[in-house]
Order: sequence, then C-alpha cells, then structure tokens
Amino acid sequence: MVNRLKEDLIRTSAMGRVSNRPVASYGQLDSKAGVSRPEGSLANKVLRDFTVKCMQTAGLSVRIDRVGNIFGRKDGSMNREKAVMVGSHLDSVINGGHLDGALGVFAGIEAVRRLCDEDFQNQRPIEVVAFTGEEGSAFMVGAMLGSAFLVGKMSADEALSTRNTHGRTLQEVLTENGYQGDFEYCSDDIDAFMELHIEQGPALDTENIPVGIVEHISGITWLKSIITGVGRHAGTTPMHLRQDALVVAADAVRFINRRALEMAQSQISPIVGTTGYLSVYPNNMNVIPAMVKLGFDIRSTSLKSMQCLTDETISFLNGLTQEKGLDVRMESSDTQAPVKLSNAIVRTIEKAAVRTGVRFKRMTSGAGHDTQNMASIAKTGMIFVPSVKGISHSPMEWTEWDDIEKGVSVLTGALKDLSACK
Ligand SMILES: [Zn+2]
Repeated sequence: MVNRLKEDLIRTSAMGRVSNRPVASYGQLDSKAGVSRPEGSLANKVLRDFTVKCMQTAGLSVRIDRVGNIFGRKDGSMNREKAVMVGSHLDSVINGGHLDGALGVFAGIEAVRRLCDEDFQNQRPIEVVAFTGEEGSAFMVGAMLGSAFLVGKMSADEALSTRNTHGRTLQEVLTENGYQGDFEYCSDDIDAFMELHIEQGPALDTENIPVGIVEHISGITWLKSIITGVGRHAGTTPMHLRQDALVVAADAVRFINRRALEMAQSQISPIVGTTGYLSVYPNNMNVIPAMVKLGFDIRSTSLKSMQCLTDETISFLNGLTQEKGLDVRMESSDTQAPVKLSNAIVRTIEKAAVRTGVRFKRMTSGAGHDTQNMASIAKTGMIFVPSVKGISHSPMEWTEWDDIEKGVSVLTGALKDLSACK
C-alpha cells in the first residue's frame, strides 16, 4: 500500500487517545484506551488542523462552511459541472476507535493524491468533505449534524445554537477552534457522493471479503414505553398479589427478541429488534419494581417490517399489562425511514472493484451514516471495509491495512468514473 495513507492514519490514531500513543497494528490496541474526539474537543481541533494541512498538501483548496464542515476542492476541466464528493466525519464517540469516520476522510484525500500522481484529469470538480458532528457524542440533539445542514434538513441557526454536554453552543466551540466559516455550499451543486467507512459489523470479516458495497441503510424506530405496577415489600407481598413492572418488562424483552428473530428468518428483508434501554424504579433489592422504562430499537431496510414489529410490540405490551392489571404508556415512536442508495453508484463501485480485482459483496448498513442524508440530494453510494471481529465504537476497533488499501483502490476507481461528465 502507498505508505502515505498508512502514515496519516497512524499519526491521527494518537489524536484524542488517552495514551497519546499512535497505533500501527491490532496488537498495539489497548482495550482501555480508545480515542475521544467529540466535536469541539481539543483532539477534534488537532485532527481538523491536520486534515486541512493534508488537503492543502494534496493540492485541494479548503473552504469551511457555517457549521464547520470542511471541503477540499480539486477543480475539474469542466469546473461549472456539478461536483463529485467523497468523505466522512472526523468526530468520534467517547473512547471509540480512530478509524470510524476519519478513515473515510483520509481515504478521500488519498484517492485525490492518486489521481494527481497519474495526472488524471477529472472533468467534474472533486470535493473531499469532513462533516461536523456525525456521532452526536457532544452535540446530542443532532447526530449527522454537518450533513443534515448541507442537505437543508437543519438550519444554521438550529445547528449553531445546539449545546454540548458542557452547555456550550456549537457556535462557541467552532469560533474558539477557528472552524466557523462563511462558505455556503449549494447542495444543488453535488452530482454524486461516496463514503468509505468501516463496516462496524461482522459480515465482511466473517466471510473474509475485503469490500462491501452498500445498497441500503436500515431505517430505525425508537420506541419508548413506561410500565407502571405497584411497588411493595418484597418480603411480605404474596406472589399472587403482585403487580411487578419488571416481570412484564422481561416478557416484553423476550417478545421483541423472539419476534425479530422469527421475522428475520422468514422474510426477505432483514430486521433486528433490541431492548437497549431499561430503567427500573426504585431499583432496590427489597422492593417489587413499581415502574420500568423500556427503550426498543428496531431496524430494517423495510419500513413495513419496522412498522409491523413496532405494532406487535405495542399490542403485546397493552395486552399483557391489561391482563396483569398494570399500566403501560407508550411514547410516540421516532422513526427514520430506510434509505436505498443509488443503483448507478452501486454499479460504478462494482465495476471499479472488478477492474482492480478486489472481491466484494453487496450489503446493508445497520448503522446510520452521513450518506443517508446525502442520498436525499445526490446519487449516493457507500463502500465498507471489514471491521476486525465486527467491533466498532470501541478501543478495539481495527481494519487491516490490506483491506484499507483494497477499499481505497476501489474508491479511487469509482471516483475516476464519477468525475467524468457523461
Ligand atoms: Zn462513522
């Protein structure tokens, strides 16, 4: 592999890491010391500064928009044509891995460097983008904030007034770090967008396939419910007189797990259902649980399947609580619809993989990405590289260098095709 991308990634792997030590191999990872680069942090600024420097060295002209998105432009021979954009995000979760997001930005910069090495003349302008605040780990109101702003789903005022976990606004931290620009990117000026990203799941690693071409991004429903029973003495209340909220909650946990498994096995579109949040009140050893708050996460590429599992879960809870004499209150569910990515881009990426002799498979992304916002304004595609053991959002997140190289080769090939006006 061309060493400069490896060098960039090793260098940036130290930024925001507790130990401040760069990591060059899986064996050097420390399960307790991941990277923390939430938007607005010093580590995030250091990584932004380095990214801008790399973009400039690669010959890109750098512009920053109002919410801190960084754009590096390589002019095209037909410069008034719409651009082809590649990139991802620089922020991370707390104590996460260094490749989630940053890999996509530096892969984009590397792809441009390779085009320059070959004297490749792109007709369309090429833009490498680093989006602000994808993870929502600091500014929780808006995950995928930067791309939401770019595509017009969020206004600048709404984005900039969002406060982080320390109570500071995005405007304050961007101004302080020198990343509140005044450039305005017109979303009509983007023809195509591609994001290279780690898979964050086990499919590619398990099957030993270096590149995934994403066809769909799963939709998500978050369903919240509060089950109210009666909190009484755990020693003196006979079993048949109990209205134990946790027992009902436990049945609901098993229900969604079983139904999601059954649906996944019987349907064409995959579905997953998780009870990710559980809060028990009063949570005392000697008190029958009086109240339980439950949070269900339901994901699928089929909105209909998501709706079906949501409805079944609600009616199961209603039926069971009624039968047992408890109350249940459902909070209105929050749904992001599944996104189907562009067939044309899937085929372009596939052709690039075939040309470079890289094995690939078409797949679905269970995690959300800036790509799903970008799909609302441009032809959009996504390239996955394997996550070792499927681990991500963890200090143990890793992708082998060979797989990164294959992903970048495919990205570069697809970028060449998309930068031609047809
Ligand atoms: Zn990411």
